[in-house]
Amino acid sequence: MRATALGTHIGAPVRMSFGRARSLPVSCTWQRGTARIRLHEFFREAPESVWDDLGAWLRSGRRARAACRRLDTFIADAIRALPQKAHRKERMAPAGAVHDLTALAAPLWGDWFAADFVDRARPTLTWGARRKSRARRSLQLGCFVPSSRVVRIHPVLDHKTVPAWFVSFVLYHEILHAALPDATHHGPPFRERERRHPDYARTRQWETIHLPSWIARARRGTY
Ligand SMILES: [Zn+2]
Repeated sequence: MRATALGTHIGAPVRMSFGRARSLPVSCTWQRGTARIRLHEFFREAPESVWDDLGAWLRSGRRARAACRRLDTFIADAIRALPQKAHRKERMAPAGAVHDLTALAAPLWGDWFAADFVDRARPTLTWGARRKSRARRSLQLGCFVPSSRVVRIHPVLDHKTVPAWFVSFVLYHEILHAALPDATHHGPPFRERERRHPDYARTRQWETIHLPSWIARARRGTY
C-alpha cells in the first residue's frame, strides 16, 4: 500500500524492502524504470506525514528542502531511539592459572568498597588475553572499561613469582576507577583513596623492581 502511494508520488512503479542498516537508512536505485527503495525497519511505524516527505524527496531530491529537513529529523530521532548495539561479548576469565581475581576481590568489596557500589553495579573482573605484547618501557597492568564495566588485569601478573597482595592492589586501583567515575582519571580524590591502602608504597616499589622482567615476558609471550 505504501509502495503504491510512493509510486503515485514519483509516477513510477516502486519495489520496497526493509533492512537494518543504520549507516544507510534510506536508499533508492532505479532498475528498468522501477524505483527500488530500501528503508530501515523503523519506517514501518512512521506516520503518514513521513511517507509524504519521503515521496517529495524521491520526486525532487534535496530541492524538497522542508521535506528533507523533516525527514532528516525523523531519521536522526529514530536512530537515537534504537537499542544500543551490543558490544562483542568478551569471555570473562577471573580464575587464572595462579591467581583467582574473584577470591582476591572478595575482601576488597567488604573492606574498601563497602559504600561505593550501593547504587551502581560492581565491575566484572577478568584476566586479559595472553598475547604477545610490543610494550617496551611500561606495561598497563590493569584497566577499567567504563562502557562495559570490565576490570581487566594483565596476564603477566598471573604468575607464581607475583604475590597475591600485588595483584590485589592492582585490582584495588582498577576497581577504584569504577567506584569514582566522576573523578578525573588520577586526580586528587583518586590518589587520596589509593594512598589509604596499606600496600600502596610497597606495590609501587615492587612494580619498579619487577617491571623490566614483566615487559620481557610479555614481549616473548611466555606467560
Ligand atoms: Zn588508573
